[in-house]
Amino acid sequence: MNYTGITIQPYYPEDNFDKETLTKRLEDVFYLPVKWLPPAEVPQIAYNPARNQFIGDYFLRELINVKDNKEIALGIVSVDLYEPELNFVFGVASAVTKTAVISTYRLHNTFYGLPENKQIFIDRITKEAVHEIGHTLGLGHCPNPECVMHFSNSIVDTDRKSYLFCPSCYQKVQAAIGL
Ligand SMILES: [Zn+2]
Ligand SMILES: [Zn+2]
Repeated sequence: MNYTGITIQPYYPEDNFDKETLTKRLEDVFYLPVKWLPPAEVPQIAYNPARNQFIGDYFLRELINVKDNKEIALGIVSVDLYEPELNFVFGVASAVTKTAVISTYRLHNTFYGLPENKQIFIDRITKEAVHEIGHTLGLGHCPNPECVMHFSNSIVDTDRKSYLFCPSCYQKVQAAIGL
């Protein structure tokens, strides 16, 4: 095994979602134990007041400090994230530092004017988490619209795909993890 586990760093203010389901799904998909850290304060240095958003890259660097080099770190924030030249991102990841961060901000049904739905919410969180962890393992985007590595331009793309890898992507995951 090239990795020993996945460390999740939640940030305040925490959204209410089913952590047990997310833990179990990530452990099933990656065959790695998942560990949760206590929530941390969102770094204000990452905040861009002109956009009222946080820059995703900053978290990728900060998350290096919560893990060792055999672990993958995943941050979960409820604030809106962006990257330069993109209006927003659901998440970002680095295959160099093996860190990723996802935002739940645009995963709520209420963001789209619909009633909140806990099941849809945890499914979207799972998909974004698996997708970004896939990037930390070196995977790129997949043309298969049902594969979790398909690029999500909008929530419609996220809802269309599953939280699982297509066979070709899963081979890459297994090779990267050393299963
Ligand atoms: Zn992606
Ligand atoms: Zn794929």
